[in-house]
Amino acid sequence: MERTGNRSNRIKYTCPGCAANAWGKPSLKLICGECHVQFAGEP
Ligand SMILES: [Zn+2]
Repeated sequence: MERTGNRSNRIKYTCPGCAANAWGKPSLKLICGECHVQFAGEP
């Protein structure tokens, strides 16, 4: 069951170095291309 508007499985990630934001599923491990540090997830 997929419906548009369901964002419950996406969380916001923020880079602790440059404060860039990204959104994705909670299991992602994002690395900032500028700072080369892992984004911190915000549930
Ligand atoms: Zn960064």
